[in-house]
Amino acid sequence: MKQYTVGVDVGGTNIKLGLVNRFGTIVEKAVLSTRHVNKSRKRLIDAICISILKLIKEKRLAAKDILGIGLGLPGPIDSKRGIVSFLPNIPGWKNVPLKNILQKKLHIPTFIDNDVNLITLGEWKFGAGQGCRNMMCMTLGTGVGAGLILNNDLYRGEGFSAGELGHVPLNEDGPACNCGGWGCFERYVGNTVLLQEASKVFRNKDIQLPDIYRLAKQGDQRAIRFWEKTAIHIGNALAGVVNLLNLRLIVIGGGVSKSFKFLDKTIHATIKARAMKVPAAMVKVVRAKLDDDAGILGAQVLVKESVSGR
Ligand SMILES: [Zn+2]
Repeated sequence: MKQYTVGVDVGGTNIKLGLVNRFGTIVEKAVLSTRHVNKSRKRLIDAICISILKLIKEKRLAAKDILGIGLGLPGPIDSKRGIVSFLPNIPGWKNVPLKNILQKKLHIPTFIDNDVNLITLGEWKFGAGQGCRNMMCMTLGTGVGAGLILNNDLYRGEGFSAGELGHVPLNEDGPACNCGGWGCFERYVGNTVLLQEASKVFRNKDIQLPDIYRLAKQGDQRAIRFWEKTAIHIGNALAGVVNLLNLRLIVIGGGVSKSFKFLDKTIHATIKARAMKVPAAMVKVVRAKLDDDAGILGAQVLVKESVSGR
């Protein structure tokens, strides 16, 4: 019986794989470094295929036991046709029919989507967003992205590029952004920007986000203020989201969310101060629950919905 799915979360640094049983439990995991294989597209695809087959074999399963494979990739993906439009941080990917390539090699039904979309599906079905009809899941990392569940369905947009919260302008002026715009939300809360800011505040160019979390826990006022300032930026962006979409829930994941307890109050206060009363009173902002597993579990949601033709 086909009761397993394989989830693959392709990131700029590493690729996480997981074999998931029909109850949504990850029964086998693997990680491989992207850096050694991302020089050529063929090498990256071959490495993914080998890892998937190894994962299946390790549990003494075969292709016939696998309902499908779901892959999340960091870029705009035409999930309907199974085409990677492009990957901003991995060179050599433009209009690649990845779904067909993988199906030919592996003989298992394969589905692809944007990585944050899969994380959102994972948190929605298995994590912090269970039972929620209208929600957003935001990931705060080097890039800032979001996935939207609207009326119990993943909203991908007309050209599969909805959810680019990191590139919503927070400011009419503001610093230039990689996307070609300026004053984007990502230019205030992306990891690179936060670390630049932190190296000035703490006069330490090697400081990392977990260090600032630890300092805040110890009561260091500079660290507490650092997270408060970050939370104000997040709250400002979310006030716009809340006014536009009147969501019930916003889930925050990614590296910065590990400091959620130092962000929580200020995010809520900023939303309350700046958003309209009715939507501001209804929305809850919570930390993601699944961390690194969200994309792998979300892949199962994608596979099941795709196979059943939803
Ligand atoms: Zn931008």
